[in-house]
Amino acid sequence: MNYDTGAILVLSGPSGAGKSSLIKKIEPEIGDYYFSISTTTRPMRAGETEGVDYHFVSMQTFEEDIENEHFLEYASVHGNYYGTSIKPVKKALKEGKLVLFDIDVQGHDAVRSRLGDITTSVFITTPSLHELKKRLNNRATDAREVIDNRIKMAKREIQRISEFDYLIINEDLDQAAKHLTRIAKAAKLKIPSIDISNFIRQWEENE
Ligand code: 5GP
Repeated sequence: MNYDTGAILVLSGPSGAGKSSLIKKIEPEIGDYYFSISTTTRPMRAGETEGVDYHFVSMQTFEEDIENEHFLEYASVHGNYYGTSIKPVKKALKEGKLVLFDIDVQGHDAVRSRLGDITTSVFITTPSLHELKKRLNNRATDAREVIDNRIKMAKREIQRISEFDYLIINEDLDQAAKHLTRIAKAAKLKIPSIDISNFIRQWEENE
């Protein structure tokens, strides 16, 4: 039995729900993990760093990457492309790591259909639409139009909560982080179907 096979933890939910803060908070608790750095065509925000928050590329580069099948999944979100490169994810999984994704509901759908047996997913949201609006307005890094777009998107995404394994309502950051840590630890113990078949064969052979 190979308990070292990596696993995937998908985090989705509206921008402003606190996904990044939660990831930072659970970092010291969850052991060896790899955060999948997405590629995007959206402009860099103040405070962001190339290669840390995202790989920021042009529309042309992104479309070439699609053409060359470099993405495990990609989606158009708020009028920009976002995608997950296959290579680093494969490498991290081979190293037995937990791979964290911060992707939208379309991305979750794609990852689940390709790597469902090693995937655990969590939808993270604010307690209410009102609270989300408050947080997005306080962030002050985005233009009015961008904020309105995120709210529209959030209303659509929230309809798909039932597609996820878990729901975290991020009202209190410490409490939410505690729940997410538990989920991450359990996600690492998920057994790929290939390992289950091998185990059953070995179990039967060893009479
Ligand atoms: P933001 O512009 O606020 O960083 O992200 C906007 C949305 O795009 C978020 O919901 C985020 O989860 C999603 N997103 C970020 N990277 C990816 C990705 O690689 N694939 C997909 N499908 N969505 C992504």
